[in-house]
Amino acid sequence: MVVPLAQEDPFELKAWLRAEARALGFVRVGFASCEPFESERTRLETWLAAGGRDLFPYLGTPDLVEPERLLPGARTALVGFFPYARPDAVPGAVPGSLKLSRYTWGPDYHMVLKGRLGRLLRMAEARIPGLQGRVCVDTAPLLERQMAVRAGLGWQGKHTLLIAGKGGSWGFLGVLLLTVDLPLDAPFPADRCGACTACLEACPSGALSPFHLDPSRCLTTYTLETEREPPVEVARALRATGWAAGCDRCQEVCPWNREPVWGDPVLWGGPSALHAVPEAELPRGTAQWQKLTRRTALRRVRHRHWRATLARITGRS
Ligand code: SF4
Ligand code: SF4
Repeated sequence: MVVPLAQEDPFELKAWLRAEARALGFVRVGFASCEPFESERTRLETWLAAGGRDLFPYLGTPDLVEPERLLPGARTALVGFFPYARPDAVPGAVPGSLKLSRYTWGPDYHMVLKGRLGRLLRMAEARIPGLQGRVCVDTAPLLERQMAVRAGLGWQGKHTLLIAGKGGSWGFLGVLLLTVDLPLDAPFPADRCGACTACLEACPSGALSPFHLDPSRCLTTYTLETEREPPVEVARALRATGWAAGCDRCQEVCPWNREPVWGDPVLWGGPSALHAVPEAELPRGTAQWQKLTRRTALRRVRHRHWRATLARITGRS
């Protein structure tokens, strides 16, 4: 149910929420409406029919385009950009080491961001009687990048990721849906990629065309999302590049990431053998894998999946 703001000035409430979200580590915060993303409906249906449904069977168009399905009565979405880049995280910098996407290096971001947005929700509930909210961090069916554009945080680059202006793209998005009407921010007006095509040219498996990513050709899909056998050209790219979990190539070459906002050290984590030792010296075995990935975003990758990826990269079984 939508909550009327009898005692509150909505502008003051919005400013307070923004300030509290910033204090919790979200360097950019915007407010968007929870109206359906009608313009995305056809595009998503086409994409799901063209193979997306095979790779991501848990996704459905109505859930994705209608935020109110996640929280009945949701009117406003607070969207935050939480940077995670750190100066010393360079995948593959140690000779012989595997390359793991930067976002997997520290503690599991789901836990960190959900905890912080949950704290914000509790503060808001204490201030506004009857308010309801829902925290969404990656796992709920929500078009978070489109919501971030709608909230004015940035644009979806030609690699399809959210670029938060000078903040770059090394960041997680967190969304807090609220059953209250707040003044909205203006959507980000247009992309600022210009004539650049660096990400398209750098993608090792040809998964990108302008503003479109083909997940069936993306290395991340086969190292993190599905245990399916990748197509030959993707397997070849895995072997050639050594990406063992995710892939950062399209972001590494993006000019908007030249001077990133360094992330909150809470997301950096301690040194892990996964990044610090050559692949040949990594401990083997399921128990060791579980120990190495405990409390990280890699925890959801099964050991047999990890071994299959290593076999593709190294040529050893
Ligand atoms: S993550 Fe890697 S494989 Fe996927 S689109 Fe970006 S560069 Fe290409
Ligand atoms: S590399 Fe260039 S084209 Fe790709 S997202 Fe960045 S600015 Fe846009």
